[in-house]
Order: sequence, then structure tokens, then C-alpha cells
Amino acid sequence: MTAPRPLFSRYPQLAAALPHVPLAQLPTPVHQAAALAQRLHLQRLYIKRDDLSGEQYGGNKVRKLEFLLGKAVKEQRHEVMTIGFAGSNHAAATAFYAHRLGLRSISMLLPQAPSSTAANNLLLSHASNAELHLYDSMEALQLGIGEEKERHRRQFGSEPLLIPAGGSSALGTVGFVNAALELGEQIRRGELAQPDRIYAALGTMGTVAGLAAGLHAAGIACEVAGVRVVDRNFANREKTLRLIHETTELLHAGDSSFAPEAFPSDRVIVDESQYGDGYGIPTAETRDAVAMVAQTEEILLEETYTGKAFAAVVRDARQGRLQGKTVLFWDTYNSRDMESLVSGTDYHALPQSLHEYF
Ligand SMILES: *Cc1c(COP(=O)(O)O)cnc(C)c1O
Repeated sequence: MTAPRPLFSRYPQLAAALPHVPLAQLPTPVHQAAALAQRLHLQRLYIKRDDLSGEQYGGNKVRKLEFLLGKAVKEQRHEVMTIGFAGSNHAAATAFYAHRLGLRSISMLLPQAPSSTAANNLLLSHASNAELHLYDSMEALQLGIGEEKERHRRQFGSEPLLIPAGGSSALGTVGFVNAALELGEQIRRGELAQPDRIYAALGTMGTVAGLAAGLHAAGIACEVAGVRVVDRNFANREKTLRLIHETTELLHAGDSSFAPEAFPSDRVIVDESQYGDGYGIPTAETRDAVAMVAQTEEILLEETYTGKAFAAVVRDARQGRLQGKTVLFWDTYNSRDMESLVSGTDYHALPQSLHEYF
């Protein structure tokens, strides 16, 4: 079951202005992590369980896909095309939810370090009938996009809708504006105290930017810390503020009662301390953070995004920056067991270039 989206209850004109298909199971629960708070000497610590945002496949991409695939449906597209690293959660989520809506999907992929998550995501994409292409550089991928678009246009009579990496266009980011309003409702219902600071991983920035824009609309004065896990060229403070601005503009254009001024920039924190040696490469702090959350709360994080994001909470707590504060950690990782979704799929059926991930 899924509840009406608070964004549309609060701004009814947006329901008409924005494309949307319900895909996620919302609201996601808020977990009070008392044992973990005690261990870190925090006043209060909550975990927003977006890992449970889908019945079969959760994580943070589902909220964005409600709007992005909504656009594909509204435009009567037959196909969507997206971009990511080979084992990308976003590419897998796009393939899975597109398939559920009867759309074909094409994933344009770049190499990454192999991992079991990467392997499962590739299997899920294949099981969802996605067409998979691996390129060895961004330049090759860019050329590939042009070629594949043209090939699909000729073969199927229409071009696939391009969904950007991580789903973080302004439209995709609206999914997290809705998430912030959802959190506001949970605060009003007494499910949690108002947080002083929210932590989330900063990848393609839609999660953090959408939360910031939505908290502002919800009148919640709270800091948002994005813990950068990708190269600074891809994610940084300036780009995050720009995405907040673009998303706010989109919403204001759709419903003029959505305030045009953006979230105060001094409440956006970009935490650079956990990146380490690169995307997908854990540090000792990443591993400690994953182990700590598993031991105290039995919640499983991973080492590419959520482990690094929680390591920033641990660091700030130990440095005394969070004394007396209420902290909310946004769990963006799919925790649903993918076994039943991929068990019937043999990796040999995937393109040869992807076999090295198995
Ligand atoms: C994509 C992803 C993120 C990053 O979210 P952005 O909106 O791209 O910044 C965080 N955690 C997980 C598990 C992800 O898959």
C-alpha cells in the first residue's frame, strides 16, 4: 500500500503539472536508533528507512523514478535510456521499474570495481529485459548514446527518453522534495523530533538537493549534510546549490504557491572527509561505520554510499560537533533481498564484456 504523495496534497496544482506514476511504498519508516545514539553520545539519532522504499527493490532511486518514468509514460515513450557505472543501483532500479511499467530500457554503462552488489544489479537489469552496453570511457559512451538513439529510432520508430545519471535532473530531484514533505508529516505526527541535521551520501546530488528544497517548503529549519562519495568534478557545493535552485524553479513554475526562493545556502554542508581513494573504494572508517550500524541496529549499509555517509556521522560525533543534537541519517541503499529476482538468471546470457563482473 502506498499513501498519497504529500507534495500533491500540499500543492494540488503540481499534481496536474508534473508527470508521476506511483512506484514506491511510502511513507518509509523512521527508525529510532537508540543503541547507536548512546554509543555515539548523541541526543537522538533516527534512520529514515528508504532502503525499504520498494516492496521488491528499494533505495533512493525509486522516489526519483516516480517522476522520471512518469514522464516517459506521459509522453507515450516505449523506451528509456540511462547512464551509470556497470553495477549502478540507478541503472538496475531504472530497468526494474521501467519493466514493471511495460517500458524497455537501455543502460549505457562505464567500468567500475567488481562487487557482489554490482553483479546482482547487472543480473536484475538483464532479468528486467534491459539492453546493456559497456563502454570503456565517457567519450565512447557519449558517442554510443548518439548511435543507440538513432538505431532505436530506426528500429522502433521513436527515440528512447534519456534519464540522466542517478536520475538527478530537476524533475527526478522532485522525488526528494516529496520525501522532505513526507518527513515533515512524520514530525507533525510525533514519529520523530525535528532533526538539527540530516546526513545523506552525495552522488549525483538529487537526494540532498531535493531534501533541502523540500525542507525549506515544509518550514523545517535543519541542516543537510551531503557526504561526497564521487569525484569533486561530479558533485560539489556549487552544483548542489544549482540543482536546489533549478528544482525550486520547476516547482514554482508548476504551482506559484511553492516559494520561489531557495533553501538558505549556509544550511547546505558538503562533507569532503570520507571520499578516500575514490568512488566505491572503502576506507577503514567506511568499514567501521558499516560494522557499527550492523552490530547495534541490525541494519545493513554498503561501502560505496551509505557506509561513507554514516562514517561522517561517526566522525562528527567523535569530534564533539553533534553534542545535544538530533541527527537523522537517510538510508539510501536497497536492503530488499534480490535473490528471488535474480536467481533464474545466468550471467552467461549477458553481453560478453560484462562477464568479468561475475
Ligand atoms: C545513487 C545512490 C546514492 C546517491 O544519491 P544521489 O541522489 O545520486 O546523490 C546514495 N546511496 C545509494 C545507495 C545510491 O544508490
